[in-house]
Amino acid sequence: MIRYPNALDEIETAVSAEAKGWLKKAQTRTSLFAKLGRYTNEIEATTGKKKKLSDFWGDVKPLDMRRQYNKCVYCETRLEGGAAGNIQWDLEHFRPKSAVSRWPTAKSTLLYDFDMGGSAATDYYLLAYHLHNYAAACKTCNSPYKSDHFPIGGERIFGLAHPDDYVGEKALLVYPLGNGDDDPEDLITFTGERAEPKYTKEQDLHKWRRGRVMNDFFDLNRDGLQAQRAAWLLAVWSNRLLADKGEPFALKSLERLRSPRIPYSNCTKCFLDMCSANRPNAERLIPILEEIVRISEDG
Ligand SMILES: [Zn+2]
Repeated sequence: MIRYPNALDEIETAVSAEAKGWLKKAQTRTSLFAKLGRYTNEIEATTGKKKKLSDFWGDVKPLDMRRQYNKCVYCETRLEGGAAGNIQWDLEHFRPKSAVSRWPTAKSTLLYDFDMGGSAATDYYLLAYHLHNYAAACKTCNSPYKSDHFPIGGERIFGLAHPDDYVGEKALLVYPLGNGDDDPEDLITFTGERAEPKYTKEQDLHKWRRGRVMNDFFDLNRDGLQAQRAAWLLAVWSNRLLADKGEPFALKSLERLRSPRIPYSNCTKCFLDMCSANRPNAERLIPILEEIVRISEDG
């Protein structure tokens, strides 16, 4: 997970240029929610019949996909971009548009010694059509992991118009678009393919909590993701070895591997840093990565 620092400015400009009328429609729909005090996708006509209101946040999904370099905002897996890839993505509401359900769920075995804010019957209705409440996510991260959960360390806030108004909630998830939240790379780090909180609780309690919750919430060490990161890091390692021999192509690729555009870029940068700072540790990881890939390929 990484930050996309200029994404929000770029998305706003792109929405004005490419999704003409969207901002006006969003304003009208938000005014309706403000009047009702909740999100809805149907209204009652004067005849008493229910009339369906089409949701249209999906219209701006391609813009988020592009600004995130076609990577899931949470797991950094690259999906197909463009019109053909659209179906692989969800437009994620960072703060849920529907009622908030408790996390960890009743079935979960995760235990914490700090509060997660519980469930809430009210939804974040004024943010349902706010561009700063959106991100593009893979379907696995968005559902079932994200779903309608939103753990917080402070008091739940509702009915305010801008995501910045909710800072008092002390969200335990991080919003990676723009510069308004912590940098995810300052919360989550990697040892090889494995994600872990960057800080210990003694170093920085709040950042440790956020790193730990992000890791657990999206199960960032789930088998499939670990296997994909392991395979990717083995390719990175091959490139690193060729670069050591001065191969021009590999040296050029090494620069590209530090770009935010590549898949698993937080994980990749951590691994490349380890290759530079402590080569024996990096070498010790290689058989582990190979074993993870072997197990995943054996099914
Ligand atoms: Zn994902």
